[in-house]
Amino acid sequence: MQEIYLDYNASTPVHPEIINDVLYSMHTVFANPSSQHKSGKSAALAIANARYNIAKYISADTNEIIFTSSATEAINLAIYSVLYQQKILNNKKNYKLLYAATEHKCVNNALNHWNKILQLDYEIVELPVNEDGQVILDVLQEELPLALMLCTMAVNNETGIITNLKAIKEAINKYNQYIFWLVDSVQALGKIDVNFKDLEISYASFSGHKIHAPKGCGVLYVADKNPLFPMFCGEQENKYRAGTENVPAIIGFDKALMLIEKNKHLPKNLFKYRNMIINSLTKVFPNIQINNSYPNIVPTVINFSVPEFLSKELINIFGIFNIRVAAGSACGALNSKSYVIDAMNLGRQRAEGAIRMSFSIFSNYNNIRQLCKRIALIGKKLNNYKKNYETKRYQYLLHNQTPVIRFNYNGINSWIVVNSEQCVVIDPIVELKNKLLNFINNNKLKIIAIMNTHGYVDYINYTQDLRNKLDIVIDNDDVDILGWPVNEKYLSNINIEGMQYPALLLAQDNVIIKVPTPGYTNDSVSFIVAKARDGVLLESQFVFTGGNILIEDLGRNNFKISNANKLYRSIENILKLVDNNCIVCPTYDCENLFATTMKIEQKANSLITDVLLKQQDIFLSRTKQVDLFSEEKYFQEISTKVYDPKNCIISNVDAKDIINKESYLLIDTREAVIHANDVKIIQFSKIIGVNKNSFFNVPFIHVVNFMSYCINSFDTNIHLLFICNSGMTSAYVASAFRRLGFLNSNSISLEILDKFNIDSENSYEMYV
Ligand code: PLP
Repeated sequence: MQEIYLDYNASTPVHPEIINDVLYSMHTVFANPSSQHKSGKSAALAIANARYNIAKYISADTNEIIFTSSATEAINLAIYSVLYQQKILNNKKNYKLLYAATEHKCVNNALNHWNKILQLDYEIVELPVNEDGQVILDVLQEELPLALMLCTMAVNNETGIITNLKAIKEAINKYNQYIFWLVDSVQALGKIDVNFKDLEISYASFSGHKIHAPKGCGVLYVADKNPLFPMFCGEQENKYRAGTENVPAIIGFDKALMLIEKNKHLPKNLFKYRNMIINSLTKVFPNIQINNSYPNIVPTVINFSVPEFLSKELINIFGIFNIRVAAGSACGALNSKSYVIDAMNLGRQRAEGAIRMSFSIFSNYNNIRQLCKRIALIGKKLNNYKKNYETKRYQYLLHNQTPVIRFNYNGINSWIVVNSEQCVVIDPIVELKNKLLNFINNNKLKIIAIMNTHGYVDYINYTQDLRNKLDIVIDNDDVDILGWPVNEKYLSNINIEGMQYPALLLAQDNVIIKVPTPGYTNDSVSFIVAKARDGVLLESQFVFTGGNILIEDLGRNNFKISNANKLYRSIENILKLVDNNCIVCPTYDCENLFATTMKIEQKANSLITDVLLKQQDIFLSRTKQVDLFSEEKYFQEISTKVYDPKNCIISNVDAKDIINKESYLLIDTREAVIHANDVKIIQFSKIIGVNKNSFFNVPFIHVVNFMSYCINSFDTNIHLLFICNSGMTSAYVASAFRRLGFLNSNSISLEILDKFNIDSENSYEMYV
């Protein structure tokens, strides 16, 4: 499947005609442009020509053009020059430095850097934008009078939104005519015309590799008489830059502008193409939300979100069909969001799911038709794999008749306990509503009850909304304030250690037992998912401990409704009631350790050890210490205990040896749809000799079940090899397994597949 590259705003392939010119120039004008001989002069002449053409293209004078290595350098040079001038003038005025919230990060970074290095300590002000991505003019007008510099981009790199520079200029005219105005024009070049002279823009930045020229050439336009000081000492560019000029890249930049001029007719069709693509996407993702709408945009960007997916998941889905798209966020992290969509106040879900498809100005109809066909193929495959939960495909889910699905948002868990065609939702939070609803609807599950381990404390509960949206087996009138059934017909009594506990009856001898466990809050309860017959507990499988027992920690105890003494008693009781291998599912999990077991906690959790050793006084003083922390510090403190996932990553160099030596379980932690459509991973499993029964797909939502399966089926010295695209998210799972005693848990990146020369065109029969 041929790669479809849709990340032109990040970088573009060098245009074949430019490659020709650049290659030719490397043979012909290779000399140092500062040399006085004829060869040197030819190189200098090539730069002079390029300078002339670029100046002409943006209606500037040649002495206003400085070649740099990149736009980032150009931006630094402009900001440095403005600030350095103040430094040497020794101006004591306390200026403000303004930048729009959606600027490229290098602008904010450069402002902070030079403000600090030059010890000016000016106030740096981020200007908010509205839902259309435009700077809010009221705020700008308020800030302008005391400002020294203003940075606003011409076109945004994530959304393609065209900034209303005219409106900004009007505000400047009214409130501060002397301001230095930097307009980052990287994404505007070749797409819209900016009249730098009429708008009296002081500085503008451009970058060659965004317009099909090679990397290594940027341009700073400095309008006449604006400050300019070199950051480094050198002889080049009229002494404003250091280092022999990158002549081939400059020639490439020049040629790119020539091509843009020659093809000026092309952009006319681009809006039509954009609509074709949006139509195709809408058929596959009917709930799509377009984050950049016509008309104030360049046609080469579609920024969208789909409520059911995070950007990371969408990137993976497109990736498997060889379409390269970008997220506005750093995708290495488990939770990340686009700061641009966030600044536009389009909501957290859209910011966390934002995908950018960016196109070339040279795109043609055939490229777009091919893309639309590929998108339709994704739609077909997605429909086949809509289900997130299928016991047929996941043999480890059969291990328990009540698999537990975990959803996590920023360290807070919501759970679904599945039993046959029905389910119970535990601790739903509003941030996970799309995930929960999606799972329930896609798997056509009927909700028996929605229950909470404690009343609302420090997050927004979603119980009531869910109740209103869905048809629930147990009526609203038949549950207490935490959602536990009060009508006897749903309940039975289970005898454990001589005490009777109420239990919600599920199919096939499965029950959920409620145990009052005050401590974290006075209304806290724990739920034990267990097998029971004739009122007798047979086996406890999962325990939902809410905010009481966390992984290697206990919950806070400093709410008004907390009580450490009661918590001690509650833990004592839970320890009596559940089996050692019972999986503990807490409400909070800041480090993505997924779950733990009672056996592990008895060793690793010093507060639990205190309870086991009956050291109530020590327990009480330790819980007090925990409470002394402010919430923020408390979470930082927890993080220091991280089982660093990085330690689990096997480099691709080492991987080849290890794989050949050991017999592994191979576990793909990517989403079901991605795993099922990836022919390469199946070929890989065959090559390394992993048979069908040792090869698993364990998406994050199923990790807890896989833990239960492994604990009950294997010795802890088994070798577990987790795999995902980067090797990083699977490393989180590997580290969680190491915690549980599976010390031979490791993670590798899918890039290892390239080492095995696996040919993706060569299709193998899939296991699933
Ligand atoms: N400004 C914008 C709007 C950009 O999109 C980029 C590149 O991503 C830059 C600045 C930095 O450009 P360069 O890679 O040439 O430093």
